[in-house]
Amino acid sequence: MRYEAASAADYRAKGLPWNWPNFTPEEMASHKGKGPLVIETEFMDRLQKLRLMYGRPMIINSAYRTPEYNDQVSGSGRTGAHTERAVDVRVYGTHAFELVAIAIGLGFTGIGFSQAPKTPHAQRFVHLDDIPAKHPHNPRPMIWSY
Ligand SMILES: [Zn+2]
Repeated sequence: MRYEAASAADYRAKGLPWNWPNFTPEEMASHKGKGPLVIETEFMDRLQKLRLMYGRPMIINSAYRTPEYNDQVSGSGRTGAHTERAVDVRVYGTHAFELVAIAIGLGFTGIGFSQAPKTPHAQRFVHLDDIPAKHPHNPRPMIWSY
């Protein structure tokens, strides 16, 4: 299922389902939580399963982005994974590797690793998405670094 709302507040006002207790509509919404929200329930179920298996808080830096917003903040332009089903989780060190190992087992197919040694810990993250392969030059699953 796919649910759409003009904002996290609108999502709540509409009474749309929220079955992912470790996440909030605000942290999944575009424009750093202040913009529109598109929820793919299959992706959110996978994310919640990951959170339970990981067993620690997962700080979401960025999740859904409108095509316009994604074009502003990412080289992936108007069609990047964040316009469909993706999150960036603020995590570093061994926890980042644990998170990735569990994510692969759960069927996340796009894993971006931003863990450069000189980057402050607070700026390191892991990107996770489960979009299908769309192009022969973009096989899935895949792991990349930034
Ligand atoms: Zn990302």
